[in-house]
Amino acid sequence: MKNFAYSKPEDIHTAVELVARNGRGKFLGGGTNLVDLMRENIEQPDTLVDVTGLPLDQIEELPGGGIAIGAMARNTAVANDPLVRERCPFLSQAILFGASGQIRNMATVGGNLMQRTRCPYFYDTASRCNKREPGLGCDAIDGFNRDHAILGTSHGCIATHPSDMCVVLAALDAIVHAEGPGGARAIVFTDFHRLPGDTPHIETELQRDELITSIEVPPVDVARTSMYRKVRDRRSYAFALVSVAAALETENGAIKDVRLALGGVAHKPWRAREAEAVLAGAAANAEAFRRAAEGELASARGYGGNTFKIELAKRAIVSVLSELAGRGGAR
Ligand code: SF4
Repeated sequence: MKNFAYSKPEDIHTAVELVARNGRGKFLGGGTNLVDLMRENIEQPDTLVDVTGLPLDQIEELPGGGIAIGAMARNTAVANDPLVRERCPFLSQAILFGASGQIRNMATVGGNLMQRTRCPYFYDTASRCNKREPGLGCDAIDGFNRDHAILGTSHGCIATHPSDMCVVLAALDAIVHAEGPGGARAIVFTDFHRLPGDTPHIETELQRDELITSIEVPPVDVARTSMYRKVRDRRSYAFALVSVAAALETENGAIKDVRLALGGVAHKPWRAREAEAVLAGAAANAEAFRRAAEGELASARGYGGNTFKIELAKRAIVSVLSELAGRGGAR
């Protein structure tokens, strides 16, 4: 690890200014990913601006019924928050499926959004990786790619985004609030993370000197009947092969409202809009769920080691929606 300067400001303006005026400065949240990357010399900031002392850890109800989650709220606090558990149970479930208790106690919500892929070639500096070094190539495409993406991939990168929480935030149409040298701005969650294209090293729409300040979860009535399922190689402390975040409400056997997003399948949390369009107003049965899954995965592409994920994702979608419908899919 290289030497770096460290500071811990107490206000947002100072934190942003410290990173903005230092071309190799970085914000430090819980450090559960960035510090690992620094130990491997994959990230080499010369200044770390610790933002965990900023007054950004509140979880509050918004007028109208939404929830504002401060960017420095720890993952554990969000998962256990009564408002989150009542209004968005799948958000709480997704967080509790992630990492370990110790890591969730440290990791912040803002850091969860900013964590980088767990592609093993990205962490192995002897391998070719376009994300680590643009133009170098991608050893995963013809390599060991069991964990890699099947949707939205490019010739340059087939990595997945590792977050569970972000899959649910995509389903909820959350909004990311950020503060930078130019002031505050809001970014729609489904636009926040990028597909790899020719620039897999650019992972989000956030500028280097912009700080996430909060996540706004709008009021989504259907989210009260929701579920997050994570399919993985180990029962705990493993990233998703495929995950499904779903919310479903039915009326007289027909789908009244539905939200669906997938994890472990793409460079970004994957909002399943094709499937949602198929499901809108359809009968809430396994046939419709399979049709929706087929539509969503129609453009999927496997790379050998991960081709099984295409069928796995379809079955996971059908299984989760069937379970929600079996509960009545309604309150
Ligand atoms: Fe790097 Fe992406 Fe290829 Fe992994 S999949 S080696 S992160 S370019």
